[in-house]
Amino acid sequence: MNLEHSIAALATRIRSAASITALTGAGVSAASGVPTFRGSKGLWRNYAPEQLATPEAFREDPRLVWEWYNWRRELIAKCRPNAAHTVLAAWSRRYPRFHLITQNVDGLHELAGTQDVVRFHGSIWEVLCWERCPGSPERWRDDRVPFEEIPPHCPHCSGLIRPGVVWFGEAIDPEVWTRSVEAASCEVFLTAGTSAVVYPAAGLIHEARSRGAFTVEINPDLTPNSGAVDLTIQARAEEVLPAVDSLLLS
Ligand code: NAD
Ligand code: ZN
Repeated sequence: MNLEHSIAALATRIRSAASITALTGAGVSAASGVPTFRGSKGLWRNYAPEQLATPEAFREDPRLVWEWYNWRRELIAKCRPNAAHTVLAAWSRRYPRFHLITQNVDGLHELAGTQDVVRFHGSIWEVLCWERCPGSPERWRDDRVPFEEIPPHCPHCSGLIRPGVVWFGEAIDPEVWTRSVEAASCEVFLTAGTSAVVYPAAGLIHEARSRGAFTVEINPDLTPNSGAVDLTIQARAEEVLPAVDSLLLS
């Protein structure tokens, strides 16, 4: 199917769907200037994200890990939502049974005005006490950019704080997992901008499929899930989603 036909097919599905769920990944924020992990610009000082985004890396060198997060926070703070975020935000207001699950930690879906975002991997704008000291909340928002001191300290116990994101090897918050699996029970399940290699997020598409959803992938590159979905749209999210939306509005 060519691009135009695929876009029309997705619009037709959405038009008649009673429930729609979108799962987004780093590619949706690429056009806003946020580097993806698996793109060539994702590297920082020659470290792979898998070497930094782990509890072991933090235990070993919290300063190094915070320098990387501080760099990412500074970069993201300058970024604005793009057309892909804007369309998904409009759908969250227009369709009563629309759910958005994101693997992104950048907060751009919220900035675009999306309602009830399920933040699968947490937020780069939240922190928590590394020691989980009894005086501190479970997590809290801290948008200081840059931090005046690295690594930053907990205001409650003066130990270290850590980013409020899910690191490699860490479990997904059980409530977030439950909400995500519930959202996977839908008529149209759409993934956009994810390499589909980070589990358990990548498994949600199989979850949706087994519950009878029509599954769609939007990504300029093929992924391990491309062969398993009902419709593959090999193009950029910020181009495909506005094109689908203009058909929906016509
Ligand atoms: P990834 O970096 O592994 O993959 C990005 C995918 O996006 C690739 O498959 C690429 O082909 C695709 N892509 C690139 N440009 C695109 C575009 N314009 N439109 C559509 N697709 C495009 O990202 P991932 O699958 O989200 O997994 C990595 C993990 O890294 C996530 O769990 C997330 O927490 C984290 N992460 C988040 C951000 C962010 O918050 N913006 C950025 C980098 C990584
Ligand atoms: Zn503390």
